[in-house]
Amino acid sequence: MLIVKKFGGSSVADKERIYNVARRVSEDYYAGHDVVVVLSAMGKTTDGLLQQAREINPRASKRELDMLLTCGEQMSVSLMAMALGGMGIPAISLNAWQVSMQTSSAYGNARLKNIDTDRIQKELESRKIVVVTGFQGINKFEDYTTLGRGGSDTTAVALAAALHADACEIYTDVEGVYTADPRIVPNARKLKEITYDEMLEMASLGAKVLHNRSVELAKKYGVQLVVRSSLTNAEGTVVKEVVKMEKMLVSGVAVDKNVARIAVLGLRDIPGMAFRLFNFISQKKINVDLILQSIGREGTKDISFTVAKENVDEVLHILQMNSDSLGFTSVDVSDDVAKISLVGAGIMSNSGMASRMFEALYDEGINIRMISTSEIKISVLIDERYADRAMISIHDKFGLGE
Ligand code: ASP
Ligand code: MG
Repeated sequence: MLIVKKFGGSSVADKERIYNVARRVSEDYYAGHDVVVVLSAMGKTTDGLLQQAREINPRASKRELDMLLTCGEQMSVSLMAMALGGMGIPAISLNAWQVSMQTSSAYGNARLKNIDTDRIQKELESRKIVVVTGFQGINKFEDYTTLGRGGSDTTAVALAAALHADACEIYTDVEGVYTADPRIVPNARKLKEITYDEMLEMASLGAKVLHNRSVELAKKYGVQLVVRSSLTNAEGTVVKEVVKMEKMLVSGVAVDKNVARIAVLGLRDIPGMAFRLFNFISQKKINVDLILQSIGREGTKDISFTVAKENVDEVLHILQMNSDSLGFTSVDVSDDVAKISLVGAGIMSNSGMASRMFEALYDEGINIRMISTSEIKISVLIDERYADRAMISIHDKFGLGE
């Protein structure tokens, strides 16, 4: 069997943890499997490197930043190979250059394009454990690139796909994917299984267990993932396409506090206004999430929408620049809002899910400001200060807890 095992930064944070990972990895090796290990940088190394860069030059180029950041993963893979070597296990570390992991040219946010598996395969054939740097690649200019924060997961999934691995295991400091953030909802339950689409929703909605792109890739190439803890032997959560028939209708409740609501008031009530408004915004590559349009009254209407908090200033600027063409009367921003989403593959096919969720909010006297639904989720926008209470109430209403 060929197994790809990825360990995050906290799992290799210090000497003891590195030995711990080496021991776990050696079990598979001694069982006769081929083992590829993908590592993140140790602990908070990446943050530390970024801080150093800022101190030297706050406007350093992305190329140089990537050159710097790739050092973090290079440290952890070489130390891991040394730890394994010390235990008498043949191991070799390889970076993105040595493997040849080609990416797009976008420094800081590159996408993997092609992985040459020859070198890895050769090392595996000589019964070595191959320890590969996560998060990094090389582009057509023969420069190092990085895949965006948290990108090592994506490296692991891409390698598993390229090598046709039999298993891809993502080790982290939590025991799996939960029905809600256990820090907010104390009786949150660990899920045995979750579909790729549900996982994507959970991840993008704030359950930051897996890098989003890694889940997209896993779905695309049918790579089944297991998310589990590097510190315990607890069974993790399997991320895959089809979940057992007796699957839960709902798999979790997610919260996103990084949202702001922008209301554009007094737009003319004529065809093309929504088009104009969102066209200006999308030209700047800003994602709009929930949208609400009021009923037209006396020739005007209001359109509200949500964006990530960091985009608010730019959106306001866009509105101002195009105020003639849009002709609104005023703009109102509130950033003390949170988006709460109920996620589940069974949501669309079951009536009554939305009303049950709204009832949970009503039970707590929480007002809903916006609503949106999709195949596998129902989202509401509420005041941020009620977010935790809303999570707990919805989680209870659907009986998701232990
Ligand atoms: N070391 C990188 C980061 O901190 C990549 C990763 O951890 O996956 O973002
Ligand atoms: Mg991570």
